[in-house]
Amino acid sequence: MVTATVPEQQVKIGPTQLLINNEWVESVSRRRFETINPATGEVICSVAEADAPDVDNAVQAARNAFKSGEWRKMSATDRGELLYKLADLIEQNTDELARLETLDNGKPLQESLDDLELVIACYRYYAGWADKVQGKTIPISGSYFCYTRHEPVGVVGQIIPWNFPLLMQAWKLAPALATGNTVVLKTAEQTPLSALRVGELIIEAGFPPGVVNILSGYGPTAGSAIARQMDIDKVAFTGSTEVGHLIMEAAAKSNLKRITLELGGKSPNIIFADADMDAAIAGAYNGLFLNQGQCCCAGSRVFVEEKCYDDFVDRTVENAKQRIVGNPFDPQTEQGPQVDKEQFDKVMSYIESGMRDGAQMLCGGNRVGEQGFFIAPTVFADVRDEMKIAQEEIFGPVMSIIKFKDIDEVIQRGNATMYGLAAGVWTKDITKAYAIANNLRAGTVWVNCYDVFDAAAPFGGFKQSGIGRELGEYGLQQYTEVKTVTIKL
Ligand code: ADP
Repeated sequence: MVTATVPEQQVKIGPTQLLINNEWVESVSRRRFETINPATGEVICSVAEADAPDVDNAVQAARNAFKSGEWRKMSATDRGELLYKLADLIEQNTDELARLETLDNGKPLQESLDDLELVIACYRYYAGWADKVQGKTIPISGSYFCYTRHEPVGVVGQIIPWNFPLLMQAWKLAPALATGNTVVLKTAEQTPLSALRVGELIIEAGFPPGVVNILSGYGPTAGSAIARQMDIDKVAFTGSTEVGHLIMEAAAKSNLKRITLELGGKSPNIIFADADMDAAIAGAYNGLFLNQGQCCCAGSRVFVEEKCYDDFVDRTVENAKQRIVGNPFDPQTEQGPQVDKEQFDKVMSYIESGMRDGAQMLCGGNRVGEQGFFIAPTVFADVRDEMKIAQEEIFGPVMSIIKFKDIDEVIQRGNATMYGLAAGVWTKDITKAYAIANNLRAGTVWVNCYDVFDAAAPFGGFKQSGIGRELGEYGLQQYTEVKTVTIKL
């Protein structure tokens, strides 16, 4: 682990108010909260703090936009054009958005730029879908003409996390808007800034008032108000499994709004001795350390076959020791800070629990630097299934390496978790790869690769990793209601 430094960077901040009905407004309470630069611990600026009354105002604007006016009358092709326009504007402002993302979230600038490629692709992908959402004609018995329409669900509440702020905004907005919904989106309290700047671009692209409303605010106040709101037709949530339970409960207790949930994970990444070992080591490393380890699909249980275990551990530890941790604006930097003090403390407490439980910590385990929330890349070997670090989502740069002997055993152990978001397998044996892909209960299985994302490929969880899918045509379906129309002939 090496520390990098560069001089302080200039970053343009953009709007800090709430976006309601295409206007920038303070919150009803006039309260504001501070957002912190995780690389220094210093305040960047304050933003307006939404609470239940602001959610109600935003929902009212979204409802009005849904019921009447330009949005409803707009052709699907024109809706697609607006999304293309937004993608173009984001592309034109890529550098500025990437710097803002890095400032607020702490991820290395190159990772923000990589995210933006996916962001732009996502808006373009769903722009193309806007006029291709089709129902069916159905040959029912009798003298009838029966067909289905795929109509927008209505007003959609969207709650996003802080680990990929711009990307999660794109995953939420693009399919919802392509299908003609209107949106109230709440960002995570740790990272409000980039989404607000996109709000400016949404206005510039020409989206009618009320179609997209963006609120900064806390989960238990603004987030919970969205989940309970009686005039929201659907909530799309990405975040922790714990809060996923709350969202589902609030939906059940309020108006049975539809929910899609993309939640936590403890994904197994399985390395067989017959794998291309260079690729497997690099894949397991990136699959865990990417984004400071703050990925819901992080391959955080690395199962390594006994025969190649020692070699894998040695080389992984060597790589982790070389990882460049430091100022996320330095082009050399590979790992920035954790997003805030709370996450920093949580990750450090998992590291302590790994040591207490008797796992072997082979590198890292310590804070890096005096300011900010940096943690040295940490590798634990000889981790056992029952240890907390093998059971719970750490969401930090901490790899747990676990030894296994054979395929049946690793499938059973890989599945022994409440989560089912993703998995990886590394082998040259197609039969083994196929068996793993079929038998692991996970929404995505990567074979000889990891973290391959594409707007066209669905993503989501089995079990307590979520409900529903995002991306692809599957993701689109979650934003429409099917209406059956039967006409007597
Ligand atoms: P994390 O633990 O990774 O911060 P959370 O699930 O707490 O993940 O946060 C993800 C998103 O959910 C954030 O936008 C946060 O504000 C929101 N959130 C947190 N608690 C609640 C809640 N009780 N109701 C609705 N949204 C919430």
